[in-house]
Amino acid sequence: MGKLLVLYFPKMKTFNCVLANFSLFFASVVHSAQDAHVHGLSHLTIALEKQTLLVEINSPLMDIVGFEGEPRTKVQKDSIERAKATLRKIDNVLIFKGGSCLKKNIDVTLGHDHSNEHSHSEHDHDTHSEISAVYKFKCSEPEELQEITVLLPNQFSRMEKIKAQWVTANAQGQVTLDKNKNTINLR
Ligand SMILES: [Zn+2]
Repeated sequence: MGKLLVLYFPKMKTFNCVLANFSLFFASVVHSAQDAHVHGLSHLTIALEKQTLLVEINSPLMDIVGFEGEPRTKVQKDSIERAKATLRKIDNVLIFKGGSCLKKNIDVTLGHDHSNEHSHSEHDHDTHSEISAVYKFKCSEPEELQEITVLLPNQFSRMEKIKAQWVTANAQGQVTLDKNKNTINLR
């Protein structure tokens, strides 16, 4: 009989849906749509249940491409496409130590939140935008998964901090990652 673990993921929209079958772990998952994101701060959640590993990253678009709102110029549109391509290539994003995890699915989406207008006028965009990437893996040796290294701060120079929360069958934790500290120990 596994322990009942409760985590609170305020930023994770997609994750809530993906995690429908993780209800044993996530007895209470609440999303607060009112929270405006903070530039420089991304959110990462990791859940390992049996052989299924889910990783979701949510970042302010500002941290990825340097602007928010609808892309207007060709340069802006190109940088979004480049960012999506970077996020879709798993070697750019995550490194696993142990676990024998194979990619099953990657879903990268871009969202503009027009209901959350910026209150500070120094920004030259009128909406908050976020990019979300959801990765699904099948790990044939899940008990051997020791560490996950997150390469995103190395890929996107504007990304400053990532607040990571993780849960496995045996443990859970949270850690703040950056360029210099980008490995999560799952033990
Ligand atoms: Zn913003």
